[in-house]
Amino acid sequence: MILNFIESAAVLIALCWLHALNMRHVQRQLLRQLLAGGLFGAICVIGMLAPLTLREGLIFDARSVVLSMAGLFGGPLVAAIAGLMAGGYRLWLGGVGVIPGLFNIVMPVLLGLAYRAACQRNWLRIGVWQLLLFGALVHLLLVLSLSLLPEKTFSQALQQVAVPVFLVLTPATLLLGLLLQDIFQQARDRQALRESEARLRAINEASPDLTLVLDEEGRYLEVMAPDPQLLYGGGVGLVGKHLADVLPVGQAERFMAFLAHTLACDSPQTLEYGMRTPSGQRVFEGRARRLDTLLQGKRAVVFIARDITDRVNFELDRRVAAIAFESQQGMLITDASTRILKVNRAFSQISGYSAAEAIGQSTQMLSSGRHGPEFYQALWQTLAETGMWEGEVWNRRKNGEVFPEWLAISAVRDERGRVSNYVASLTDISERKSAEQKIKHLAFYDALTGLPNRRLLRDRLQQAQALSRRNNQHAALVFLDLDNFKNVNDLYGHQVGDELLCQVAERLRHSLRERDTVARLGGDEFVIMLEGLEARTEEAASQVEHLGAQVLDALRQPYLAGGHRLFSSASLGVVLFNDDQHSVDELMQRADLSMYTAKAAGKNALSFYDAQMQEAVSARLQLEEDLRRGLQTGEFIVYLQPQVDQLGCLSGAEALVRWQHPRRGLLAPGAFITIAERCGLIETLDMQVLGAACALLAQWAQQPYSAGLSLSVNLSARLLYRTDFVDAVQQTLRHSGANPQLLKLELTESLLLTDMDEAIVRMQTLRDMGIRFSIDDFGTGYSSMAYLQQLPLDQLKIDQSFTRELPDNPSSLAIVRAIIALAHSLKLEVLAEGVETQTQRDSLLNNGCLHYQGYFYGRPMAVADFAASDLLRFRQNEAVSEA
Ligand code: C2E
Ligand code: CA
Ligand code: CA
Repeated sequence: MILNFIESAAVLIALCWLHALNMRHVQRQLLRQLLAGGLFGAICVIGMLAPLTLREGLIFDARSVVLSMAGLFGGPLVAAIAGLMAGGYRLWLGGVGVIPGLFNIVMPVLLGLAYRAACQRNWLRIGVWQLLLFGALVHLLLVLSLSLLPEKTFSQALQQVAVPVFLVLTPATLLLGLLLQDIFQQARDRQALRESEARLRAINEASPDLTLVLDEEGRYLEVMAPDPQLLYGGGVGLVGKHLADVLPVGQAERFMAFLAHTLACDSPQTLEYGMRTPSGQRVFEGRARRLDTLLQGKRAVVFIARDITDRVNFELDRRVAAIAFESQQGMLITDASTRILKVNRAFSQISGYSAAEAIGQSTQMLSSGRHGPEFYQALWQTLAETGMWEGEVWNRRKNGEVFPEWLAISAVRDERGRVSNYVASLTDISERKSAEQKIKHLAFYDALTGLPNRRLLRDRLQQAQALSRRNNQHAALVFLDLDNFKNVNDLYGHQVGDELLCQVAERLRHSLRERDTVARLGGDEFVIMLEGLEARTEEAASQVEHLGAQVLDALRQPYLAGGHRLFSSASLGVVLFNDDQHSVDELMQRADLSMYTAKAAGKNALSFYDAQMQEAVSARLQLEEDLRRGLQTGEFIVYLQPQVDQLGCLSGAEALVRWQHPRRGLLAPGAFITIAERCGLIETLDMQVLGAACALLAQWAQQPYSAGLSLSVNLSARLLYRTDFVDAVQQTLRHSGANPQLLKLELTESLLLTDMDEAIVRMQTLRDMGIRFSIDDFGTGYSSMAYLQQLPLDQLKIDQSFTRELPDNPSSLAIVRAIIALAHSLKLEVLAEGVETQTQRDSLLNNGCLHYQGYFYGRPMAVADFAASDLLRFRQNEAVSEA
């Protein structure tokens, strides 16, 4: 019986071995199962060939063990084949034990399959105890199945076989189960390994990355490169070489350090490095992980390197673009349908919209509504044609404010040439614009009243001329001069004068039509331009007359300025035009002339230009021309009018200019001074006179009888506002060698009022040099004590209008007395002009005025006449007799 069991064990080991071979080498599943079924079946048959035969037809063998394991490990097909083979053979053997014998085949198969099913459902496991219990169950049932035998045989079998069968076959089941379990486990492991290797290979081949396995000494164990270009030097025959053999020294050292570091760490390590490859310098990102097992007895790492050159470049580009995007300019990116995709900070600052508010919106949210559809049409057309548009656009900020910006739009196209995006940069130019506006305003508008100035008026006048010709309509140019405005200035000061001018401007604006232009030329001169008047001259004239009357009326109303209730009126001069035949200057001159006619006609009046004026205009133009020439050719000469003291002795003279006109003969100042002032020639004229006067003084100094004579020179106060005036006087004095003490400069009071401080500084400088100052025509202006006290003065000249009416006119006498008293109190010399009679002189003397000038003593005379005059001869005689 023992021998029987050894035999069975050998057969089972053979089964295991054959089964293992089948599992390893047969790949096709069905074939493997058929073979396995045949194998299990054959083993059962072999077992039945050499059984433990209790009596004829009653055999015991290990088929229950084999078949139960076939069910458990092989599954239904294997178990069915094995069962059928075993069952067939058992039937063929026949005998008393056929029934339990067949039961002994079906039962282990079914139990084995049931165990298998339970394991698949995870109800049971295949372990030592489980297999032992399973074996015990199978063989308990086997023993119980003996009861199917006839009574006698059953009891014999029970006595002889039951215990050995149970005790031997149960552990045999365990043993076979464990062996098969191991075989199956191995097969499963092999399969898993094959699968994972295949997977790994596929992953490696599908990946663009480079995979290396390196041992701790830096030897290449494995190289997997989808593109050999990624490897240093093309990566030919790398396996087996060392890093140091392949890479440059520095690079190899860096890698070795990285290897050592990775080996020391549990987690994957990364390294970024650059490398020259056959396709140029590239940047790689390497990731390495230590292997958990030894390879060829050495520690190793897997190193995966990825070419990140493109990413690095892209990142760099992106960063550069981001910095560029965040520039001072507002930037805006839209899609092709102008929906905003991205904005920068400057955009938010300019527009007031945060990025969150702007993104997703249409650019229409910025539209100001100031541009018509044609504007945008042109914009889109240019963009479509050239891919660019640039220009000034009015947009609207979030707070509703409309502002000008400089906008540049570029279209971005995709590979197929379709517009994918628009990139716009915008600069807020509202500050620049307002500066521009301001400059324009300064250049074209009067600072005080805000009215258009002369330049703008000329411009509009030109346009009006062209327009009136085209429309066959009349237009009118009206010169307006305030009557006696000078008085307001003099009496109340400039601030009040300015206030009055502003009010005049306001009234003019109100009393005229929208389309008319009111301009200020300066001072109290305004110009009105009326357009769109009737075609017929008479009707146009009456229209102007009507409007003119309105203006005069408006200006006559009382003003309230600086707390004073003031009255003013104006004189208007009109010129009508309906073509552009006359120049702008001609029109202006004509209107100006008409205005003087109005003034002459008694002020607060309106006067039209007529043909006679043409002559006056031409005459004046001619005069200007002559003046210019005369100044160059020395046509201006000096006449002298004597000045005497209370004893009638000559004390000096006043230099009075005369014009030796080539055609018109000798002209007195009244014929040209005003024009010289108007056309800016007065300064030159005065300096010429001053030069002549100084030359005279120097000449007089030669003779003892004339050496002490003073000389008064009339000066336009405009000279005092010239920065170079002091130098010019100094130079003249030096040049001539005249004694400044004997030079007296005459100024009129009113002209001194504008910006007095500056004038005073200059006067003071001149006075420090010894030059004396006199106020001419004193009493006709509005001089106040305060003002006189500030000026460095030496003399007051009583105006001839007061002298003329002495002594009978009591008011003149009162004024003269007051002037004399004032002069005395200010310690100023006082001289009376226009003394024509002895009575006048006596009256003046009686009131304390000791200096005189007038026809009574002598008319203005040529220098030669002066030298030969009695007054001078008298001094000469005196000097001789003194000597
Ligand atoms: P003014 O400074 O008041 O000069 C006195 C004027 O009165 C002179 O007129 C003189 O001829 C005139 N006159 C003198 N005595 C008598 C008299 O007894 N009876 C009358 N009826 N008249 C008398 P003239 O020379 O025609 O000068 C007129 C004005 O022209 C001057 O008035 C002065 O303001 C200005 N003027 C003269 N020469 C110059 C000059 O070189 N430069 C400047 N800026 N103005 C000058
Ligand atoms: Ca004078
Ligand atoms: Ca005078």
